[in-house]
Amino acid sequence: MPYSKIGKNEVCIFMLKFAAEYEFPLKKNKMMYLFKKEQLLNDFLKKKKQKIAFVPTMGALHNGHLSLIKKGKDLGGLVVSSIFVNPTQFDNAEDLKKYPRTVEDDVAKLVSVETDVLFLPSVDEIYPKGTEPTKVYDFGELDQTMEGEHRDGHFAGVAQVVNRLLEIVRPDWIVMGQKDIQQTAIVRSLLKQTSHKTQLVIAPTIREADGLAMSSRNRRLLPEERAEAPILHTALQAAKAQYKKEAIGDVKAAAIASIEESGNLKVDYFEIVDLHTMQPIAEWGNAKEIAICTAAFLGKVRLIDNVLIM
Ligand code: AMP
Repeated sequence: MPYSKIGKNEVCIFMLKFAAEYEFPLKKNKMMYLFKKEQLLNDFLKKKKQKIAFVPTMGALHNGHLSLIKKGKDLGGLVVSSIFVNPTQFDNAEDLKKYPRTVEDDVAKLVSVETDVLFLPSVDEIYPKGTEPTKVYDFGELDQTMEGEHRDGHFAGVAQVVNRLLEIVRPDWIVMGQKDIQQTAIVRSLLKQTSHKTQLVIAPTIREADGLAMSSRNRRLLPEERAEAPILHTALQAAKAQYKKEAIGDVKAAAIASIEESGNLKVDYFEIVDLHTMQPIAEWGNAKEIAICTAAFLGKVRLIDNVLIM
């Protein structure tokens, strides 16, 4: 019986909780293989001898995540996705505690898009020697702005977990979302600083019908906050429309005012940066490819979004 029909079948819930490996039936006699242990995953991947597209996630999956799985499938080979809420990239204990965890729903979604493998490790499996970082990377100025500046240690934690996951999965491709544009710059730099033979593939941001970028954190928004949230994207688009028409300082000031006008949104940053250096530019002509990026608090939830000018 397909997993979607079993629904909340107790056996599956039991296996998800306690089994180190499990198989979820897909269509046409195919399976999605679940592994919680590095060794079991490695044994399986070695036997398969296929190219691997890897999609790391923190779970609470939505169509944005699923678009990355589909992108991975288009690349050919086996699609391996991971769900791991990485404690070392959170600078805020409350945010880590409140991060949505919906693993049964996630499994059903991964099955629905025919993911080949789900890696679902524990914190001990990822960090057997403790969570203290053993390697320090130099991201130059890439991590000095925006998320790097506003979330202490965030990118050190991202680099630590991505490096560890790449060591375990050894993929040909890592597929990541434009939604976290600065993160993609960090991972590109990480790949240069390490010996991983993995190519970074970036997929576009998937949005709700009203423009709000899909995010696991959106489910924590209260209804009135959810109604306000699309303003972030509206402000980004309005700023982009002023490209080379208005001075950057004026565009930023107008964007921040329009976001905060709504009442509940509080801007953490609104930056117009060179896509390659992640450094703010003073004039439109100072960069060929530009990212307009913002982060804002909406009640207790912090949202990020960006648009590109290529
Ligand atoms: P997360 O689970 O938030 O760590 O995200 C896992 C991956 O999904 C990252 O590469 C994100 O950039 C990507 N992602 C998150 N939201 C979206 C979205 N709305 N559209 C496309 N990719 C996304």
